[in-house]
Amino acid sequence: METKVWLVDKNVDNLQSYPQIIESAELLGANQVVAFPTETVYGLGANAKSDEAVKKVFEAKGRPSDNPLIVHIASKEQLIEIVEEIPKKAWKLMAEFWPGPLTLIMKRKPGQLSNIVTAGLDTVAVRMPNHPIALSLIKASGLPIAAPSANTSGKPSPTSAKHVEDDLVGRIAGIVDGGVTGVGVESTVLDCTVDVPVILRPGGVTFEQIEAVIGTVKQDVALKHKDAAPKAPGMKYTHYAPKAPLFLVKGNQAFLQKLVNEKRSDGLKVGVISSTEHQHEYEADYVIAPGSLADLHTVAAGLYDTLRQFDALDADIIFSEMFPESGIGVAVMNRLVKAAGHQTIEGDL
Ligand code: AMP
Ligand code: MG
Repeated sequence: METKVWLVDKNVDNLQSYPQIIESAELLGANQVVAFPTETVYGLGANAKSDEAVKKVFEAKGRPSDNPLIVHIASKEQLIEIVEEIPKKAWKLMAEFWPGPLTLIMKRKPGQLSNIVTAGLDTVAVRMPNHPIALSLIKASGLPIAAPSANTSGKPSPTSAKHVEDDLVGRIAGIVDGGVTGVGVESTVLDCTVDVPVILRPGGVTFEQIEAVIGTVKQDVALKHKDAAPKAPGMKYTHYAPKAPLFLVKGNQAFLQKLVNEKRSDGLKVGVISSTEHQHEYEADYVIAPGSLADLHTVAAGLYDTLRQFDALDADIIFSEMFPESGIGVAVMNRLVKAAGHQTIEGDL
């Protein structure tokens, strides 16, 4: 299949009537699959009402069919069409964080969406993305758009159109290239079907931000205990993994350097994921810093590109510093721990 690429400047006025947006929206309407930028990562969009379209998303990504997709909307009217009821706390959160990186799980309205989108569940995950291209594409299509991250399942999510091309060229109808995404990690997923909402996946909106609006929320126990069954089906799968084995190092820089030296003396090409603050302190084959400890948003924004760079460099093994688990750092560490398959080495020198 030929994959069309449309270059679109997200800052131009009236995007909805832009020929590239109209063409890509028409493809969505014809049940084809199109990748587009959101403020978190690139999404792989399909008509959420159509089994035919949604099946193509699962096929292109190689995504397990029991892992439901997030439905993206551009207006509250679209939300009312697809959910049975909107809890009070959900209204408050939407007023504060939509459009934005917060996905809300609510009871779905029967008959409105493909059953494949929700993997047969009676709930649906919905969000309104805060990106002019995503919003105008959804509006132009007039459809709710199911969109998981536009990567091959298991690989790091795409934060640029190039990442999407690397994974999916020839497998999807098109890619709207709107430049690099901003947040860099996926949305926070919050289950609003219960009295005390539960965070199923940490993401772009932090725990503290949510509690400031609706009071107490819980976190799915599976986020801290690797053997517990997660409530979001997708959280049980290996994810975000680079090709080379990745180890998280809990300890000082001297200890991490010692691990690097040992592997280099075995003849391996060793990579290090560092903060910009420590970047020049390591001696390794490749040292990449996604961002700064002083602003963890920069680490989130650069994380997936860093993991993908190691794939291109053919590193044999990667050691990563830990980042503080506060604010967006919770999402960063959640992704890193998964990318490392929970492999952690602890020590100090
Ligand atoms: P992705 O599409 O890759 O950003 O992942 C979406 C995440 O939301 C996955 O972990 C899904 O399992 C989860 N999810 C989507 N819909 C639901 C739902 N109805 N109930 C619980 N988790 C969901
Ligand atoms: Mg994903």
